[in-house]
Amino acid sequence: MERAGEYYSVSEIFGENVFNDAVMQERLPKKVYQKMKQTISEGRELDLATADVVAHEMKEWAIEKGATHYTHWFQPLTGVTAEKHDSFITAPMENGKVLMSFSGKELIKGEPDASSFPSGGLRATFEARGYTAWDCTSPAFVRQDAAGATLCIPTAFCSYTGEALDQKTPLLRSMEAVDKQAVRLLRLFGNNTSKKVTASVGPEQEYFIVDREKYLKRKDLIFTGRTLFGAMPPKGQEMDDHYFGAIRERIAAYMRDVNKELWKLGVSAKTQHNEVAPAQHELAPIYATANVAVDHNQLIMETLKKIAGRHGLQCLLHEKPFAGVNGSGKHNNWSITTDDGINLLDPGVTPHENVQFLLVLTCILKAVDIHADLLRESAADVGNDHRLGANEAPPAIISIYLGEQLQDVLTQLISTGSATHSLSGSKLETGVKTLPDFMKDATDRNRTSPFAFTGNKFEFRMVGSQDSIAQPNVVLNTIVAEAFSQACDVLEKAKAEDNFEMAVHNLIKEYATEHQRVVFNGNGYSDEWVEEAKRRGLPNITSMVDAIPALNTEKSVKLFEKFGVFTKAELDSRVEIEYETYAKEINIEARAMIDIAGKQIIPAVIKYTTALATSLSAVASACGEADVSVQKELLMEVSDLLSDTKKALAALQDVAEQGASMEEGRAQAVFYRDTVKSAMDALRAPVDKLEMLVDKDMWPMPSYGDLIFEV
Ligand code: ADP
Ligand code: MG
Repeated sequence: MERAGEYYSVSEIFGENVFNDAVMQERLPKKVYQKMKQTISEGRELDLATADVVAHEMKEWAIEKGATHYTHWFQPLTGVTAEKHDSFITAPMENGKVLMSFSGKELIKGEPDASSFPSGGLRATFEARGYTAWDCTSPAFVRQDAAGATLCIPTAFCSYTGEALDQKTPLLRSMEAVDKQAVRLLRLFGNNTSKKVTASVGPEQEYFIVDREKYLKRKDLIFTGRTLFGAMPPKGQEMDDHYFGAIRERIAAYMRDVNKELWKLGVSAKTQHNEVAPAQHELAPIYATANVAVDHNQLIMETLKKIAGRHGLQCLLHEKPFAGVNGSGKHNNWSITTDDGINLLDPGVTPHENVQFLLVLTCILKAVDIHADLLRESAADVGNDHRLGANEAPPAIISIYLGEQLQDVLTQLISTGSATHSLSGSKLETGVKTLPDFMKDATDRNRTSPFAFTGNKFEFRMVGSQDSIAQPNVVLNTIVAEAFSQACDVLEKAKAEDNFEMAVHNLIKEYATEHQRVVFNGNGYSDEWVEEAKRRGLPNITSMVDAIPALNTEKSVKLFEKFGVFTKAELDSRVEIEYETYAKEINIEARAMIDIAGKQIIPAVIKYTTALATSLSAVASACGEADVSVQKELLMEVSDLLSDTKKALAALQDVAEQGASMEEGRAQAVFYRDTVKSAMDALRAPVDKLEMLVDKDMWPMPSYGDLIFEV
């Protein structure tokens, strides 16, 4: 553990536990290194002989870092990572010694017993085998922790027949799709030099930090990651400067350790304090290739949790750990960039590039408008239901924020068919008479939009804090690939007929006109927007259960199959898994509530009423004429609430049992959402009132105030 006052050089430790390009270049024979580079940059298959050499060097390097085991590190559909550790040790030789070995085959392919991971029926139990395949575009790393050091190899996870059982496989497929279509589009604009277009992602991660000892006294936090009971602290979200100062010291030491750990793993963390909610913070890495960013985000979440323990803290990644206090999300910053450094979302410096930019932009408008349901679904998880569609932002309605400048350009295009002036400052010329000259306006800031253009990237702000960012990026990559592909179909034909310029203009105007309804630059948190969005016909999907069906609509199947990202069977399986996940998680919450109310809260309240009654009769008998009406009133009030609690508990028990006995699927998920959750709310209400009445010393768990303000 890093202590205050110990210093180290960031550049020295950065990536020290990563088998990165520099390490490969240094350790691999030149030919092998070149083959690896080709495999990584061009997606070529790796032959076994080369893999053997890479595996050997990787093992030697890992052993130098103290590694005894290796694991194929993968991301099944549980939202977290999974791994199965194997040691490098071979069978003992005749002299009783062992060798440490690691073959190319072991590097490339693994066969974890996969039957316990969700497959949604894709993998029948008699065919439980799944396999993991090395994703050599995300570097291997050594993780050091209490279990020792382990060589972790990022992999994709598939069924024996090749169906994706994980987050990574479709992500890699979607990256290929957007690459192919974007290159096609670039060629139309005369770019013959860029070879590859890559989706880049920079996810900003929000989280809460609480004291671990207090955390351990909250069974709800332990079992479900969020508080199932808890009255709002009298202070609400206002900060207490005194406590805030104290938080800073302890959190600063924690963040310092988190950074160091992440830097060693090659994750370029830059930590910052977030002041929206007490005890809430944010960590953002510098953006990376989408699949690496997804892996790194998993490492960030793991590291945040692991390091917290060392500081006597607990990291809460749940989207809504505390009712009434701001929740946590993830801002998924997304852009597409060529291998020679051109960001397709950058308005650019030449007129030519600006036309291309407007086409890219309007293609994205179209993609987001047509597939708003899929984007919304990609941000759906059980915890995020407390943010999206609740009284908190971002709203569940997908809309795009463009900013004043771009909006003006679009408005001109739509209303007059051409745009001839620009709102501000030094212009960038488009060189096309009918297209506007403009400049990018990076000063625009809108924090309430779920999908905001921020200068040279889009920021998708709906994603939940504990969810994988794979799915949102799968959807983004694929829907944009589709829009590009459709634009290219039109433009390639026009180009052959020597009518490219006019065709581009028409297409930009057409997309802007047809999909302008998805653009909204106002306050996304307001009730007026909900009304306005309804008028515009935009979907407002307020729960995960209602978001799930978007995954396998005819439109979705057509989209994903066309670009080879998901088969229908894969989509159907994901739908099944999501309903199951929803029902399971709510069931766990319900059972935790039943347990806490029955074993902790009701006994504590009874103790309190007993103490009240004892004092009441003692006071009454000692001084007969004393006024005991206050004690009486309190006793009555507490007893009434106790009886409400008892009734609500019985009702919740009843419906939870009903839910658990239902067949898995949509009907069960709907039952959990509509019936079980209401019963949970009905139990929480009297308990939260009781918390305000019962002697604090007798209340069986730390309060919101204790958790949030006294870290
Ligand atoms: P904000 O104002 O939203 O905090 P930042 O500049 O701090 O914006 O960036 C937030 C995240 O966006 C960071 O992870 C950053 O690396 C990432 N980011 C910046 N530029 C890009 C880009 N072109 N593509 C993808 N992500 C980017
Ligand atoms: Mg941001």
